[in-house]
Amino acid sequence: MKAIDVHAHVTSLFGYRRLYGDQMAEALTSYYHVEDKVQSEEEMVKVYTDLDVKALLISWDAESTSGCAKVDNDYVAGLVKKYPQAFLGAWAMIDPWKGEMAIQELERAVKELGMIGLKFQPCIQAFFPDDRRFYPLYEKCVELKVPVSFHTGTTGAGAGLPGAGGHRLKYTKPIPHIDDLAADFPDLTIIMIHPAWPWEQEQIAILIHKGNVFADLSGWAPKYFPEAIKREVNGRLQDKFMFGSDYPEIPLKRWLDEFEAGGYKPEVIEKVFYKNAQRILGVGL
Ligand SMILES: [Zn+2]
Repeated sequence: MKAIDVHAHVTSLFGYRRLYGDQMAEALTSYYHVEDKVQSEEEMVKVYTDLDVKALLISWDAESTSGCAKVDNDYVAGLVKKYPQAFLGAWAMIDPWKGEMAIQELERAVKELGMIGLKFQPCIQAFFPDDRRFYPLYEKCVELKVPVSFHTGTTGAGAGLPGAGGHRLKYTKPIPHIDDLAADFPDLTIIMIHPAWPWEQEQIAILIHKGNVFADLSGWAPKYFPEAIKREVNGRLQDKFMFGSDYPEIPLKRWLDEFEAGGYKPEVIEKVFYKNAQRILGVGL
């Protein structure tokens, strides 16, 4: 196995338009310069097996705030069972506004479906990660011993539209929201998703300061990583960052090739490609 992609969406199995609606589909495809191409399951599996990469898939539920269609946890967990040659596990996505139902779904996703953790997109789900109304969800994560991940920094969702389709970036600012949560839940493993530009310095400060917080490098082509992130990945924070593509937004091969050509030390490449994910998430061992 060459690498573990800790952040792979199944968007391409449905198409942007069907999942997110016309306006958002247009914004996403133009932001990432990708086509709204629908793939079969087998085609997506082949992309991964051809490159000897295994993925952690992500389901989708932001119904309460976006009205967008959701991708059931059952479906994504089913893909993992069906294609173990390509998929290592999956993140449950839970709509935090669903109250008690959200907690029950989290428990079901982990215990019955075998999902490895919980993923949030606070910008689209319109909530602050450190809002105490959602603390019962994190208490459940600690009880189930699963990590929780939050999108941080800017997002392609709604990018370029007037008002960005109503999405607000305040929800994805690392300090204080991720930092407060990490302080309140020292036993919770927290992953910050993406280089958190324009707040990458805040992200770095949290990674240095909070032992229970880590990050993935998804959603950005490595060529465009902020300089501070490149320096930290190759230096003192080399045990904190994991490879993620944000498939299908960033082509897998492009991410891997650019990272390998990015001037990182060989041992850092190994850590980012799979060793950190193995240690932090306990997958692919
Ligand atoms: Zn993503």
